[in-house]
Amino acid sequence: MDIFAGIDLGGTNIEVALVDSDGRVLSHKTHATESVLGYERVIENIKDTLNEIKGDNQLRAIGLCSPGLLDVEKGVCLFAGNLGFRDVELKRPLEDAFGVPTFIENDVNAAALGEWRFGTGRGTENFILVMVGTGVGAGVVCDGHLLHGKSNATAEIGHTIVEKDGLFCNCGGRGCLEMYASATGIVRMMRQYINKGHYTSVVDEVQGNMDRITAAIVAKKATEGDSLSKHVINRAAEYLGVALVNYVNTFNPEVVAIGGGVARAGDVLLKPVEEFIKKRSMEVQARDVKIVQSTLGEDAGTVGAAAVAMDKVK
Ligand SMILES: [Zn+2]
Repeated sequence: MDIFAGIDLGGTNIEVALVDSDGRVLSHKTHATESVLGYERVIENIKDTLNEIKGDNQLRAIGLCSPGLLDVEKGVCLFAGNLGFRDVELKRPLEDAFGVPTFIENDVNAAALGEWRFGTGRGTENFILVMVGTGVGAGVVCDGHLLHGKSNATAEIGHTIVEKDGLFCNCGGRGCLEMYASATGIVRMMRQYINKGHYTSVVDEVQGNMDRITAAIVAKKATEGDSLSKHVINRAAEYLGVALVNYVNTFNPEVVAIGGGVARAGDVLLKPVEEFIKKRSMEVQARDVKIVQSTLGEDAGTVGAAAVAMDKVK
C-alpha cells in the first residue's frame, strides 16, 4: 500500500504524519514551527521531522497544508500573516529534499478533502466542511471536485454577510458571519450581554474576570442550562444557519460536516443549526442534506494534507 506524508504547517506547530491510502495514520510527530526564526528554519524543521518519522519507508507523495493565501499550482505561499511568510516556496524545497511529488493546499480545503475521503463525507459527491474556531472557514466538494476558484479563495463562508449593516470585520467588509459565530464572536456577544447587566453563571465560572470568558465556557454553561449562554449559542447557531442555508441552496450537498473548536460544543450548537437548515433551506436541498459533526479531529490537518497528495497522484 502506498504511503503518503501529510504535513500540517501551523503558526505554532508543524504536525507531520505518515498516512496510508486508506487514511490511517501510521506515525505522527509534532515540532515547533519556530516561524520567528524565519522561513529557512521552518523548512528545515519540516524536513527534519519528516526524515525522522519516514525511516526506511518509500513515500509516494507529500501533501502540505498551510494557512494563508497560496498559489497551489506553483506551490508558493503568497502570504501568511501568522507565519510571517510572503512569496515563499513550499513545494520545491520538499521535492528537492525527498525526490517525490509534493502538493500544497489551504488548511481548510485540505481538511475538507480528508473529511470527504475518510470521514463523514465518504461515499458522497457533494460535501461541505465548515470549520468554526477563532475564525470560520469552509471547503466545498461539488460533483466530486474540491472547488478552488481563480485565486484558491472559494468558500470564504466566514466572510459571507449575515448582517448587512453589522459589525466591521478585519476583511474590510461588515456583518460577516465570523463576527458572530466564531469563538471570538461568541465571547464578544456574551460580554455585551453581561455589560448590559444580564445575569449568567458564566460570570461565576470566570470569577468575575471577563478576560477569561471563552466560547468553550459559554457552550458548557449552555449545556448545563444557563439561559443567557443558551441564548448566545442559539444566536451564533442561527447566524451559522443563515450562512449554511445559502450554501445548501447553492451547492445542494449530501453532507455538511461542522468541525473546529466551537463545534466541540456538540448538540447544544449543532442541533439548532440543523433545525434552522432543515426548516429554511429549499425543499429538495433540505431533504438531501445531513448535518453532522466532523470526525477527523486532531488528525484533520495531516490526513487532509495527505489526501491532497492522494487526490493528485491517483
Ligand atoms: Zn469579513
